[in-house]
Amino acid sequence: MSTSRSLISTSLVFLAFGSTSASTVRAQYTPIPYSWDAAFTNDEVAIIRAAMDKVHSLFRDPRVARITRGRYKYASVSNGNWRASGLKYQRGMAVGDYLFHQLAALRSVRFPHVRIKAYHSTGNDWGRANTDRVQLRFSRGRATVSGGFEIELNRYWLGSRGQGSDTNQWAGVIAHEMLHNLGHLHPVRGKVDDEFYRQHQINVFDAAVSANGGGIDGTACHVCGSAEGIDSGSSPAPGLRVAQEFQPVRVFANRNHGHTLRLPAGTYEVLPSGTWSYSRNTRWVGADGDPYKSNTGGTSYPSARFGELLLISDGVWSKYERGRTLYVRRSLTLLMNDRPREYGDNVGYLDVVLRRLERR
Ligand SMILES: [Zn+2]
Repeated sequence: MSTSRSLISTSLVFLAFGSTSASTVRAQYTPIPYSWDAAFTNDEVAIIRAAMDKVHSLFRDPRVARITRGRYKYASVSNGNWRASGLKYQRGMAVGDYLFHQLAALRSVRFPHVRIKAYHSTGNDWGRANTDRVQLRFSRGRATVSGGFEIELNRYWLGSRGQGSDTNQWAGVIAHEMLHNLGHLHPVRGKVDDEFYRQHQINVFDAAVSANGGGIDGTACHVCGSAEGIDSGSSPAPGLRVAQEFQPVRVFANRNHGHTLRLPAGTYEVLPSGTWSYSRNTRWVGADGDPYKSNTGGTSYPSARFGELLLISDGVWSKYERGRTLYVRRSLTLLMNDRPREYGDNVGYLDVVLRRLERR
């Protein structure tokens, strides 16, 4: 019963957005194997099954991947998962690319089992999941997969009135939690009206699945109870050496667009020195920013400290971490974190040395 209902809604979506027919998409991929806790009621299971019917095709739908690629602003992955994939130190690989390699591989490998567990919380979180339960490994042009998905859905919301009964919304939640299992992160305590939270890759993907791969304007992503950090990026790379060291770049604190560099593609190490101040009368701080001033919001990068050095690599934002490397395809912008309209009273500068690294 749920299968036929889902087929109808899927074909309506394909009519509306004009792509391949539902049947060819269905035929393209083997069904995602999944199971659910005995704790769920029959009504809840019906929602899960209808949602999984959508996840089955949308998780592997190139349109969903394309929308995500075009819309995300922040990307954050678990360092362990990314490192183990074998892609991290590959030439031309950026944090933001990882998801798309994973999604492409999951279209062809045996899809791991998805175990769906129940929990109960009156908070505003709809789901939660641990990171790094599923590992893809890429070697000599081949992808292999290990582990299994394990996600939790909040029964407090499952089947509740309004969006809680909307299987599209639950498809988005399930996809979101599956991406956590694949190593993807977002800020802790995200809120659906928080642009910083919404614009993380995992939440853009969530929203694109919820919208059936159509336009995602106005579609809320979901609050998730998983606890993560931001932008694990990378730590010093074993087996790399300095290929090129650039003259120091002077990054002035009072430039609200920072300093943008065109660079040869490669993996870079960022070495800042000096102090600057995010307000003429406050303490001077280094690239790590001010640990004593709480950031109550409104800064260029919401989870970074005041005065922290921000790195914008080909449009993807992250914050400076000592020993971190990042991949730059074409351009890198260096910028102090401050409220966008309050750069005028900043003083000082950092001198930043960039080193391009390459394999030994
Ligand atoms: Zn989450």
